Amino acid sequence: MSLQGSSVTAEPPCTEAPEDHRSFRRDDYWRALPGYADVDAETFHSHTFQMRNSVTSVGKLMAVLGDRVSQHFLQDLADGLQHAPMSVRISPYLVSLIDWDQPDVDPIRRQFLPIGSSILPDHPELHLDSLHEQADAAVPGLTHRYADRALFLTLDTCPVYCRFCTRSYAVGLDTDEVEKVHLSVNRERWDQALQYIRVTPELEDIVISGGDTYNLRPEHVQYIGESLLKIDHVRRMRFASKGPAVMPQKILTDEAWREVLIGVVNRGREMGKEVVLHTHFNHPNEITGTSFDAMNLLHQRGVTVRNQAVLQRGVNDDSGIMKLLVKRLSYMNIQPYYVFFHDLVAGVEDLRTTLREGLDIEKCLRGVTAGYNTPTFVVDTLGGGGKRDGHSYEVYDEENGIAVFSSPSVRPGELFYYFDPIDTLSESAQARWADEGARREMMAEARGLAGG
Ligand SMILES: *Cc1c(COP(=O)(O)O)cnc(C)c1O
Ligand code: SF4
Repeated sequence: MSLQGSSVTAEPPCTEAPEDHRSFRRDDYWRALPGYADVDAETFHSHTFQMRNSVTSVGKLMAVLGDRVSQHFLQDLADGLQHAPMSVRISPYLVSLIDWDQPDVDPIRRQFLPIGSSILPDHPELHLDSLHEQADAAVPGLTHRYADRALFLTLDTCPVYCRFCTRSYAVGLDTDEVEKVHLSVNRERWDQALQYIRVTPELEDIVISGGDTYNLRPEHVQYIGESLLKIDHVRRMRFASKGPAVMPQKILTDEAWREVLIGVVNRGREMGKEVVLHTHFNHPNEITGTSFDAMNLLHQRGVTVRNQAVLQRGVNDDSGIMKLLVKRLSYMNIQPYYVFFHDLVAGVEDLRTTLREGLDIEKCLRGVTAGYNTPTFVVDTLGGGGKRDGHSYEVYDEENGIAVFSSPSVRPGELFYYFDPIDTLSESAQARWADEGARREMMAEARGLAGG
C-alpha cells in the first residue's frame, strides 16, 4: 500500500498543446455531413435551426450522417443507448464538430453518444445521487450544503444531454435504465425555494442551475434573476449553462434570452451585486469562431463568464489538450475556474480517470498561464463532503484506488471517499474489489490511516 508522501513521484510526463490556441475555425464544417450539405451559414448559425434539428435518436443521427459511418458503429451506438442512464440530445453544431472518420475516439462523440463496446461495469460504491444533492435539499430543487451558498435546480431539461451528467438522477427524460426525480419548470416550487433563500440570511451566493438555464424562457430568467436580486443578503449569483459550449448560436441570435440575461447582470451591477455566467467547455474542439463571437459579445456587454470542465478519460485526460483548452478559454475571456474529477455516475465508468492522472495534469498545467486562469482540480466527494482540492487528500491508496478526504468547514470530523476506476487497477486489486469482505477491509484501512 502506498501512503501519502511515502513514494517519490517523478515529474509527470507533460505534453504540449497540439494546436495554436488563437486559431478558431470558421469554415463550413457542417456541409461535410450529407444531412447538412445544403444548409447555408446563416441558417446553420441560428439558434432556431440548432434547437429544431437537435439529434435525439439513432434514426435522426443516421438521417444526418447518411453513409459517413459504418453499420457496425450504428449498431454499437444502439447498444450503448439501450444501457444509458441519459437520453440522447445533441446539437447539429456538435454533431458537425465530431470527426466521423474516427467516431470511436472522437472526444465530442465520447461525451454525448455512448457506444456499447466501451461500457464498463459501474463502480460497486456507486449510488445514484452520489453527491447527496437530494439528501441535502432544503426544499425540492434547492441544495444548501455550504453555509453561504446554495444550488438552485430550476428545471430538469438541457439543450443537450451529456453522458457524464452528475444529475442523471433528475435531468432528461426517463430511460430504459433510470426513472428520474422530476424538477420541472414550476413557479410554485421556485417560490418555495426563493422563500427559503429569503429567510436564510447566511445565503449570499446562489448557483442557478438545472438542467440548464439555456432552456429557461426569457421571462423565467428575468423572474428568477429579479427575485433573487431583491433579496438583500444575496450578493452573488451565477447562471449555469452548458449553452455557450454546445450552442453558442443562441447567444448571438436569441436576442430576447440574451438581453434578459444581460439585463439581470446590469441590474445586479447597479445594485452592487455580482451576476455571472458559468459554462462548461471540456475540449478545445468545442471552440469555434462562433464561440469566440458569442463570448466577445458577452464580454463587451459586461458579462463575466467562467468555465467548469469535467476531466474525462479519452476526452481531455492529457496535459497538452488541457493546456490548449485553458489557453483558448482564456483568449475568449472565459476564466477556467474548475476542472472536476469525474463523479461516480451510472453507466459512464469508461469516462473516469484516476485521481493520480488528474493531479499529474494539474501539475503540468500550473505555470502555463496566469494563476487566475488556471483551474483548480476538484473532487466532489461522495456522500456530501463537498468539493475538495484533489491535492488535499488525507490518504491516497493508489494500489487499491481509494482516496480519503476530510472537509472541516462543511462536515467537520467526517471523512469522505473518492475511488479510482476499477479497470485501471492491478489484477490483484481488482480481485479484492470483487470480494465484498476484502472491499470493506481496504476501505476501512484507508479510513483508519486518515484517522477515522
Ligand atoms: C458546487 C456547489 C456550489 C458552489 O460551490 P463553489 O465551490 O463556490 O463553486 C454550491 N452548492 C452546491 C451543492 C454545489 O455542489
Ligand atoms: S448540460 Fe449539464 S445538467 Fe444538462 S446533461 Fe449536461 S452536464 Fe447534465
